[in-house]
Amino acid sequence: MTAYIIQPTSYIMIILLLGANLGDRTTILQRAVDLIVERVGSIVKQSGLYETAPWGVADQPAYLNQVLVVETVLTPEAVLNQTQVIEQELGRVRLEKWGARVIDIDILYYNQLILQTPRLIIPHPYLHQRRFTLVPLAEIAPTFVHPVLKKTTLELLEECEDKGEVIFFNSPKTSPFG
Ligand code: AMP
Repeated sequence: MTAYIIQPTSYIMIILLLGANLGDRTTILQRAVDLIVERVGSIVKQSGLYETAPWGVADQPAYLNQVLVVETVLTPEAVLNQTQVIEQELGRVRLEKWGARVIDIDILYYNQLILQTPRLIIPHPYLHQRRFTLVPLAEIAPTFVHPVLKKTTLELLEECEDKGEVIFFNSPKTSPFG
């Protein structure tokens, strides 16, 4: 008789920020979530959708933002490869830095990893400066500790000087748990 040893797979918890400010924003976010489930990993938690004032370039439509906690087996670079392909497939139009785009996906955290390469900085370098990131993050990961700043999401939000409006828009359309 053959004995099979099943190796446990080590899942890594990552946190992603999605943003959309062109077209049917709710549908585009939902399509991005579906593609993330297909190619990056399963969703552990998802925040509501928040409507937020544009950041950097003011003359553009308001954003819808959402934060996801995802379990993945991919490396950080592989996650970025997948999220960039998803951005392209959903027709990202990028005319200027911080300008309007169909969908933007940022990697906020990769567990407690600290990484700085020419292509990828984790934790995301601006996450603590932006209310549109911290407010949805506080909904689903209030006590998660930033590995560099050593502060929880709630502490970062309390100290954040950004005054941009972040308004609850609605709950996610469908549950990824089916
Ligand atoms: P953005 O315009 O915000 O979508 O920035 C995209 C660029 O940021 C890409 O070229 C990525 O290589 C780079 N980048 C660096 N760190 C990150 C991160 N944590 N998440 C997503 N993109 C990142």
